Amino acid sequence: MTPKTIRSHLAPYSIFSKRKTTIAHAFASALAPSDEYDEAKIEAALEALGQQNLKQLSCVYCERPAQTWDHLENLVKNGKLNGYGHQVGNLVPCCRDCNSQKGGKPFCDFINANANLTDSEKLNLIHRLEAHLSLAKPIEHSNLNSEDQETLTKFFTLQTQILKLMEKADQCAQMLRIRKMAEPSACQAALSEESCPDQALRCIGITNR
Ligand SMILES: [Zn+2]
Repeated sequence: MTPKTIRSHLAPYSIFSKRKTTIAHAFASALAPSDEYDEAKIEAALEALGQQNLKQLSCVYCERPAQTWDHLENLVKNGKLNGYGHQVGNLVPCCRDCNSQKGGKPFCDFINANANLTDSEKLNLIHRLEAHLSLAKPIEHSNLNSEDQETLTKFFTLQTQILKLMEKADQCAQMLRIRKMAEPSACQAALSEESCPDQALRCIGITNR
């Protein structure tokens, strides 16, 4: 690490820029389908996946000890819900390194880019993971009845509103930084500005009362 890496830490923090992906992911996660916990079904699926030791699962991508679960299919694809969710067939044991390196990439692309695997190992692994994924049934969001469509529209409107509030909160934070939080009178003046609406301030835990 070099001294220059401190640079990004010294910049003002933006709630919107730093957290908009987290919010989008939270909304997608909330809509995604999920399976009930069924120990026998999970163990059978893991054995079929080739896991040798159910007391210490291995990362499906590199075979080192797994510490987390990777969603084979991302919940969101090209900005739209993918239909897959928190289902046994869509979750595989994974180490933290592979999980972060895979990120949002399709699992086939991630495996094909692995220089440590031979072509036949890649093919076998992809087939095994596809068989595992077939245990998960994706849900279709496009053929909803009108009542559900209305609820879905409301749901995404709430997401948009939250993102807008985050941007407003950033504006308020910027104003407060500029006006120096240390001076109580300047702070009070900043809080009474019209551009800092009450709801945005409440959202970040500051009220002007
Ligand atoms: Zn791994």
